[in-house]
Amino acid sequence: MKYAIGVDLGGTHVAASPVDDRGRVYNVHSRELESHDVKYVVGEVARVVTRSIESLPKSAKVAGVGIGSPGNIEQATGTVRFSPNFDWHDVPLRQKLEKKLARPVHILNDARCATIGEYHYGVGKGARDFVLVTLGTGIGGGIIANGKLVLGHAMGAGEIGHHVIRAGTGFVCTCGKIGCFEVQASGTALLRHALALAPSFPRSTLLTGTPQVDWGSKMISRAAAAGDQHALATWNSWLRDLATGLANVIAFVNPEIIALGGGVGRTDDSLLATPLTRLVDEQTTMVPKHQTAIVRAKLGNNAGIVGSASLVLHGIP
Ligand SMILES: [Zn+2]
Repeated sequence: MKYAIGVDLGGTHVAASPVDDRGRVYNVHSRELESHDVKYVVGEVARVVTRSIESLPKSAKVAGVGIGSPGNIEQATGTVRFSPNFDWHDVPLRQKLEKKLARPVHILNDARCATIGEYHYGVGKGARDFVLVTLGTGIGGGIIANGKLVLGHAMGAGEIGHHVIRAGTGFVCTCGKIGCFEVQASGTALLRHALALAPSFPRSTLLTGTPQVDWGSKMISRAAAAGDQHALATWNSWLRDLATGLANVIAFVNPEIIALGGGVGRTDDSLLATPLTRLVDEQTTMVPKHQTAIVRAKLGNNAGIVGSASLVLHGIP
C-alpha cells in the first residue's frame, strides 16, 4: 500500500490526512489559521503534515506531500503567484515546505485539486470530460477535457466563478465586475437574491427573525420545500443564474458530467440537480441537449485532501 499526505489549505483552516492509493482518507488533522503570514502558515502546514505522517505505522511508505492551495500557482516552481484570499504575491510555497519537511512537495490550485480528486476517486471516475463546480462562499471549478486537466496558458483555466452572466444588471462581485457567476450563484448568493426579492413579499418573515449567521442554502432550501413563497422565489431566481453559468460551461467544454461540490452541492436532487438539469437543458442550444449529467460530488469535505494526495500518487492527469 502506498500513501501520500493530502493537504487542504483554506482561508480559515488547514487540514491534512494520509490517503492511500485507493483514495481512502485516514485521520484528518486540522488547525485553525489565525493569520495569513507566510512563515506562520508554512509552520501550521508542516505541523498537520507531521502529525499525519506520525499517525501511520513506521513501515508505511509515504510518497510525498500534496498541497491544494488557493490562488494562481506557477506549476514549474510551486510558487503562489497571487492569492487574493491570503494577500500573497510570489510566495515560493513548495520551496519553503520542502525545506521544512525534507520531503517532496507537490502544489496545485485548491479547486483543481478537488477536481482531480473527484476524477480519480469520486463521481468523475471513468469520465473523460468532467467538470467540478464547487458552490460555497464563492464558486470554484476545474475542467478535465479528453482525460487532461485544463490548466491554461497562465494557469487560469477553470476560474469559472468570474465569467459574467448578468452584465450590468447583476450584483457587484468582489472582483469589481457586475454579475459574475460567483456573485449570482454561489451559496452566499442566495441571501442576495432573497434581499433583492424582499419588496415583492412584504409579509415574508424569511429575512426577519433569522440571524444572518444562520443564513444558508440549507435554511432556504428547507423553507422553499415547506412552501414559503419568498424562499421559493429566492431559490428559483438563484437556480436560474446557476443554470445560465452551467449552460455556458457546457457550451465551452461539453462535459459528460458536471459535479456540484461545496456545501450547497449536497442539497437533495429533488431541489437542486433535477430542476437544474431542466433549466440547463432549456439554455443549451448549439450543443446536443440531455448529454451532460449534473450530479452531486461524492467526496464532500475530503475532496481537497484526496485530490492533493492524488497529485502525488498519480500526477496531474
Ligand atoms: Zn467576479
